[in-house]
Order: sequence, then structure tokens, then C-alpha cells
Amino acid sequence: MIIFNFLLKKSNIECPRCLGKGFVGPEDIRRLHKQLKWAPGPCAYCNASGKVTEELLSKVAVDTTYLTIDLPESEIEKIKNGDTEAIEKGKRQELFIDNLIKYVEYYYVSENMNAESIAALYLSTEDDKALYSVEKENLIQYIHKIIELKRSNPD
Ligand SMILES: [Zn+2]
Repeated sequence: MIIFNFLLKKSNIECPRCLGKGFVGPEDIRRLHKQLKWAPGPCAYCNASGKVTEELLSKVAVDTTYLTIDLPESEIEKIKNGDTEAIEKGKRQELFIDNLIKYVEYYYVSENMNAESIAALYLSTEDDKALYSVEKENLIQYIHKIIELKRSNPD
């Protein structure tokens, strides 16, 4: 079998996102500081194989937030191949989430508001947020997570 290894793309490097498990768990999410961005699931970086190529490592950062398994396979391939449009779309979504997190942290810390009232305020002032049609119940749950994390890591 050794002879064929020369012909194949080298993909014997342990995936640095899931540490070779093929699955991104809560401890990986913490290690990569994606608590508010990712949920546990199969690893999109190595396609759940646990192994990656040097080419991928050099092209796509291991902590690329928007590269997740819930994307269609074609989107994942596009991101891995450096498709500008797919990357821009991913970055816009990430920015949307980052802004939401900042918004919640601000109203929680400075105005001492709870998740329900922050959600109501957020939805009442929506403009471009309508783009992502956030459901109120989901938003409240997410805001709870943001507040929880802020409480355990005040900066
Ligand atoms: Zn992986």
C-alpha cells in the first residue's frame, strides 16, 4: 500500500478542529472560542474523517466560523476552494451574529435588561435583521446563552 500513498493527496494530518475525532464536541467549541457560534456535531473542516490535507490547512483557517456542517455540501466545497461569493456570504452571517452578541451584551450589562426585553427591543428595531428572519422564541433562547456566557466570563 505504501506505493499508492505517493499518488494520493496527503491527508494524514490530524484535524486540528476536532482533534481527529471527526466530531466537534463542547470541549472543542470551548477550545476554539465558538461557544455562541457552533453547536456540537460532525466536523465540517475534515468532513468528519478526522484527517485533513496540508492544502486545506493552508487555505482555510481551522476556526473559520461559518464553515459548519449544516451548510449544503456544495457550499462547504466552495468555502474550502476559496469561492469569493461563498466566503462573503459566510462573513456577512458571522458579522450579523457578532453584532447581535454585542447588542445583547450591551443591553444586559449597561441597561440591566433580561433576555425577553432585549429580544422585544431587538425585534422592534429590526431593519436588515429581517434578512435572517429571526424567530422570537429562538432569539430568546440564544440571548439566554449569550447572557450565561457573559456572566461566566465577565471582561
Ligand atoms: Zn475535524
